[in-house]
Amino acid sequence: MRKTKIVATLGPSTDDIKIIAKLIKKGVNVFRLNFSHSTHEYHKSLIDKIRSASSKVGIEVAILQDISGPKIRICELKNPIELKVGDILTLSKKIVDEKHKTVTISYPKIIDSLKVGEWVYLSDGTIRAKVIKKTNHFAQCEVMVAQTLHSKKGINFPNTQLNIETITPKDIKDLEFGAQNGVDIVALSFVSSKKDIQTARKIIEPFGTNPFIIAKIEKPEAIENIDSILSEADGVMVARGDLGVELGVQKVPAIQKMIIQKANELSKPVITATQMLTSMINSPYPTRAEISDVANAVLDGSDAVMLSDETTVGNYPIQAIKVLNQTIKEAEKIYDYHKKLEVKKSESIAAAISTIAQTLNPNAIITFSRTGRSVLSIAKFRPKQSIIVSSYDIQTLRKLQVVWGVNATYICDVYDDGEALIAEFLQQAIKDNLISIRKKYVLAIGYPLDVKYATNEIKLLEQHTMQYILNKAKK
Ligand code: PEP
Repeated sequence: MRKTKIVATLGPSTDDIKIIAKLIKKGVNVFRLNFSHSTHEYHKSLIDKIRSASSKVGIEVAILQDISGPKIRICELKNPIELKVGDILTLSKKIVDEKHKTVTISYPKIIDSLKVGEWVYLSDGTIRAKVIKKTNHFAQCEVMVAQTLHSKKGINFPNTQLNIETITPKDIKDLEFGAQNGVDIVALSFVSSKKDIQTARKIIEPFGTNPFIIAKIEKPEAIENIDSILSEADGVMVARGDLGVELGVQKVPAIQKMIIQKANELSKPVITATQMLTSMINSPYPTRAEISDVANAVLDGSDAVMLSDETTVGNYPIQAIKVLNQTIKEAEKIYDYHKKLEVKKSESIAAAISTIAQTLNPNAIITFSRTGRSVLSIAKFRPKQSIIVSSYDIQTLRKLQVVWGVNATYICDVYDDGEALIAEFLQQAIKDNLISIRKKYVLAIGYPLDVKYATNEIKLLEQHTMQYILNKAKK
């Protein structure tokens, strides 16, 4: 089984139930809905299609809601503005005058924070300008790198301390919508401190849902605060698009490695995102460099790799997933499994499971988990065997789909009696050919099942033990 997971963003190229079902069969584990675009009605229709395709195909997948955050954009333009090096582009609080290269921005108050000499990047950094004059009403910027400026393009202020809330009023509505519709993972854009994650959690909690909250790391402040963000978030995303704009693309590879290493250390899932197979938007074949990038993201320790435009507007979304799948499998042939790590007290059972699995070479590790925490701990040691998980909490099962090596499968009942629970699992899993009575498994379980963080028993399941458990359950 492939260990590193695949996240695919849905959009016009893939918003059809048959295509979604195909994507699941080809290996998508998590579908990302990008709340920078589209209406709640559209996202609701995608959620319904994903759930129904997943149940038809018989494979659980997670839904990741990507909250847009304060993505700053220029105003709508009637016509694009042709910019040349040396032109003056004016950011105004109120006036739009295309003839005089004057535009407004979605957060006009930012203009107050700008200082002469600071950079302004537009259109993913393809246009760059320097502030040369500032008044209470506008900032004049000299264009240093020129291109045509189109309507509603993004704008970044890499040197400016922006005093804006990470979670905007629109984000609050989107978070409430996601919570009402049971999304499994929430990704927060432009996180700058752990407070942003706490704020999001407070908005979601009253709805009685408990998604993973993933912090998208894409700002210099987030890099500075990476340790406290990681301790608060359930996971992180290396959001290389905005990260590259804000910090410079040359810095991205080292930052990617640093974030992944820290996330791995804390057993928090980490997604590496953006431009992994960009050429496949228009071509059925990737470039060598893209394949290398995907393989390196896998070998760096990513739990998941993510596609954006490739599957939202690309012409070859299914082919892109196939390429990702094959590339990951090849990279995993040289993976450093069964990591020898320093073991914290709370990880001793997980470390023991990995050691036992390395010695006995079972066909899989089987776990029962309420919150998923024990599963994250086992995954940290990167065992070569897949980690089969059963839980009585469907959201736990679904959100674990983003985690390295995890095959989250059946909903189970809560039993006081652990053997009855194992028997229920074995019956179902043998029937579905997920496991075989003739093979060998290492099993981790905590009694009672509905107590949190209580994995306290490791069993070796071989033919005679499985047969015994099944026979006893029949009586
Ligand atoms: C990114 O910037 O890399 C990213 C994943 O965020 P978005 O696609 O929302 O810009």
